[in-house]
Amino acid sequence: MALQPPPHEAAPPQFGAPSGSVPALQITDLEKSYPTGTKALKGVSLEIPAGSFFGLLGPNGAGKSTLIHCTTGLAMPTSGSIRVFGHDAVSHYTEARKAVGLAPQDLNLDHFLTLEETLDFHGGYFGMRKKDRKERAAELLDAFSLTAKKDDRANTLSGGMKRRLILARALMHRPRFLILDEPTAGVDVELRLELWQYVKRVNEEGTTILLTTHYLEEAEQLCDQIAFINDGQIVAQGTSGDLAKEYGVTTLEDAYLELVGRKELSRATLGEDVA
Ligand code: ADP
Repeated sequence: MALQPPPHEAAPPQFGAPSGSVPALQITDLEKSYPTGTKALKGVSLEIPAGSFFGLLGPNGAGKSTLIHCTTGLAMPTSGSIRVFGHDAVSHYTEARKAVGLAPQDLNLDHFLTLEETLDFHGGYFGMRKKDRKERAAELLDAFSLTAKKDDRANTLSGGMKRRLILARALMHRPRFLILDEPTAGVDVELRLELWQYVKRVNEEGTTILLTTHYLEEAEQLCDQIAFINDGQIVAQGTSGDLAKEYGVTTLEDAYLELVGRKELSRATLGEDVA
């Protein structure tokens, strides 16, 4: 069953959209300083085309969560602008937020709600009508192979099912832009591969995706564009091949190691030392 969001009023085509259409995310000169004095974002500009599967990679503390929080209204930008499908994330928060589905790192489910209630409450929060919520929940439970569990409480699910439910919840209000914040952190290989299949399908059906991950293979497998963020700044952007070229290496992993100043860890170097 299709996961695809409905056509949006005044919206451009989402997948394979012609160049010049409204980007899913347009961040311009974004700065964010926390009251502690930490400057987490130092003038970030980033554009994610509608329909793309975009990876944001960087070491811990680079500013990835802050960027996501500013985009979803959990943090207030200090300066600069963020537009989600053309809606300003601060001055037109409601429209911008409705366009975004967020699957957070934490398994932040209400353990006492059933799966169906989890989706229904989320839809209600986003202003969906009862009949629509029921239909959409059924559609997503089916798409994520959770229908048999719909009346069970979330705390009875396996880790893999919880991850799927979090994805379904993020998609409930038919966002056109899905943010996946380390969706496969700490999950086993088979669940990772399964989740990849689900998110690939969501993207193929037209939803733009921003993925943060520490798994470079994941970014390579899924993303058509990747940006490196370091110390609050976007330092490189392109395909995995572009990034390798930019750093004068042959793999995304080696490019990343150059980014974080740890090229001595390169497998190529380690291989040579052993030989
Ligand atoms: P990442 O998600 O890439 O690990 P973060 O956006 O979490 O990076 O953090 C960027 C910087 O901002 C870090 O130095 C972090 O300690 C700091 N930071 C993040 N959240 C807060 C906060 N709520 N208050 C103060 N400093 C924060």
